[in-house]
Amino acid sequence: MDPDDYLMLSGIQHFAFCRRQWALIHIEQVWKENVLTFGGRQMHRNADDPFFTESRGDVLISRSVPLVSHALKIYGVADVVEYHRSDSGIVIPGREGHWTVVPVEYKAGKRKPDDRDEVQLCAQAICLEEMYRTRIEYGYLYYGKTRRRTEVALDDELRRRVAELVAGMYVLYDAGTTPPAVLLPHCKNCSLVELCMPAVSSRRRSVDRYLATCIGRDDA
Ligand code: SF4
Repeated sequence: MDPDDYLMLSGIQHFAFCRRQWALIHIEQVWKENVLTFGGRQMHRNADDPFFTESRGDVLISRSVPLVSHALKIYGVADVVEYHRSDSGIVIPGREGHWTVVPVEYKAGKRKPDDRDEVQLCAQAICLEEMYRTRIEYGYLYYGKTRRRTEVALDDELRRRVAELVAGMYVLYDAGTTPPAVLLPHCKNCSLVELCMPAVSSRRRSVDRYLATCIGRDDA
């Protein structure tokens, strides 16, 4: 597959949140902003300054780092990648010693009740591992509301979940299929709720099911 045809890494957070939301954005190219996505973009704008690099003691900080994984067939940009001086790890041209690679993803708001942020961070780490030929054991999620960062262990279970989600994204993408809406509590936080109309779609499906049952009875 041509790398130009790879799926966007950032889509994994949409897919983990709601497969229909992902399909509406990445297959049907629909996008609608709400206060949550706007807050997120503002935070990313602060992190995505390609001319801003920093060195804090034994930590080097790079921003807006391009990412690709040919294994997963995804591409994207990391908000921040830190390089921590250590006994082992990668070699950085012009710098002495070894450095471990640590991705940091910035999020507006607070920690989510699901794993969408964790899978996005893990997907970034998998890209960085492939690019630097190294192993990354942990990363950080920084939440704007609490102004804290949380360490995330990039264990095998999380990596499997990332691989399953990306495989699922490709299944839908290749089929060009958008799943039907299912009204759930998280819909109230969805930027596409007005376009998706999950309440109407769910009601419509109930009516369709009822009619199908009636027709089935008549035929019996
Ligand atoms: S409104 Fe609900 S069903 Fe529709 S895209 Fe959003 S989360 Fe998914």
